[in-house]
Amino acid sequence: MLHIKCPHCGLRSQNEFTYGGDATVKRPELNKEISDQEWDNFVYLRKSPRGNHLELWQHISGCRQWIKVERDTLTHEIFKTFKANEEV
Ligand SMILES: [Zn+2]
Repeated sequence: MLHIKCPHCGLRSQNEFTYGGDATVKRPELNKEISDQEWDNFVYLRKSPRGNHLELWQHISGCRQWIKVERDTLTHEIFKTFKANEEV
């Protein structure tokens, strides 16, 4: 079982968190014309990296805040966690 250090609450069991996806995906700018293909890419296409990955998790059974987690997808080692609004 993983233990994730919530930047707000401290070290907690993975059971308290919900995975939220890739934290590197950037939403297209508001009011900017984009093609259907660009929108499809934003909504549906995700990489499945092997190794270091930046992810969004929500501390659903704790403070309910979204956080960023830098995790190795092979070993599940967690290197660092950040508040959702922190630049990495
Ligand atoms: Zn928390």
